[in-house]
Amino acid sequence: MRKILRAGFLCILCILCTLLYNHNLPAASYTVQKGETLYQIAKSQSTSVEALTKANPTINPQRLHPGDVLRLPSSPTPTPTSAPTPSTPAKTSPPPITQTKPTTPAEWVRIKKGDSLAKIARENNLSIADLQRWNRLSGDSLRSGALLRLRPPPSSTPTQTNTPSSPLKPHPTPPPSPPKPSSRELIFIEPARAQIDAPKDRLRDWEYIVVHHSGTSGGNAKIFDYFHRQTRGMENGMAYHFVIGNGSDSGDGQIEVGSRWFQQKQGGHLASEALNEIAIGICLVGDFSTHRLGPRQTASLIELVQYLRKLQPDSKLKFRLHREINTKPTECPGKLFPSSAIHEILD
Ligand SMILES: [Zn+2]
Repeated sequence: MRKILRAGFLCILCILCTLLYNHNLPAASYTVQKGETLYQIAKSQSTSVEALTKANPTINPQRLHPGDVLRLPSSPTPTPTSAPTPSTPAKTSPPPITQTKPTTPAEWVRIKKGDSLAKIARENNLSIADLQRWNRLSGDSLRSGALLRLRPPPSSTPTQTNTPSSPLKPHPTPPPSPPKPSSRELIFIEPARAQIDAPKDRLRDWEYIVVHHSGTSGGNAKIFDYFHRQTRGMENGMAYHFVIGNGSDSGDGQIEVGSRWFQQKQGGHLASEALNEIAIGICLVGDFSTHRLGPRQTASLIELVQYLRKLQPDSKLKFRLHREINTKPTECPGKLFPSSAIHEILD
């Protein structure tokens, strides 16, 4: 029973697709919609969870209710690409050195029912082709509730905006060059190899490798770490051990290593404490309910799973999709995830 209750809190990233309505420009207040989290609101209002919390000291971020009215911070703060950088509306505090330049609030728009690419393009003076490119859309079908980028994503180099408080080590090198199919080199592992190898002499008795999707169009380890700490109260930080980027907020196929891997801590990615103890969590950035997994993320995932198995040769690590192992029904990692093709390679 407890597991079922807990399950509602888990894999929140998989349910970022709740029906929300966009408030594109900052207003003085914001009415919480059904299913909305503080993180989503911060994103849609181009502010930060911290700023919202400061502006609303009486709210409990874990218990937002539809109809709650939030005071919005007076000035917009950096966009989701720099969400984890603590930002405050206070005029006296100097801007963090690593802060990216603030952009207009309309970097993201939340898709409303009845929206079309053409409509959003027209309203924002943009071309449909740009919107498709920035959001990796092939057609023009939009899912209401999802976020749409109105600006080009940051370049596919990793975002080096680590703050001193960040538990994540900065990635040492830029993302790897495009994979050569015939090459047997560890294209995606190599840049992160030292970090992946770091705990190899003190590995837990892992039994599973479980793959998730973030359910978001962007994100990286730092953003997820911030989100899991701030809105899910996870003191061990990011629930996953690894994140594989999609070119939005980290490189396409880039492997980021979370602090739980360095410390060989249990995951927080499954709706079962027992399973979290023995399951390595890998999160693929993206929403594979609406998008197809790209070739670089696919290759990176395969490389990472095979490499982890080599690190722990006696363990026969079993590969599972989140939905195949979770105690609560979930679609994660999305209905378009190429389940059988990946299983064929990794089973
Ligand atoms: Zn999941």
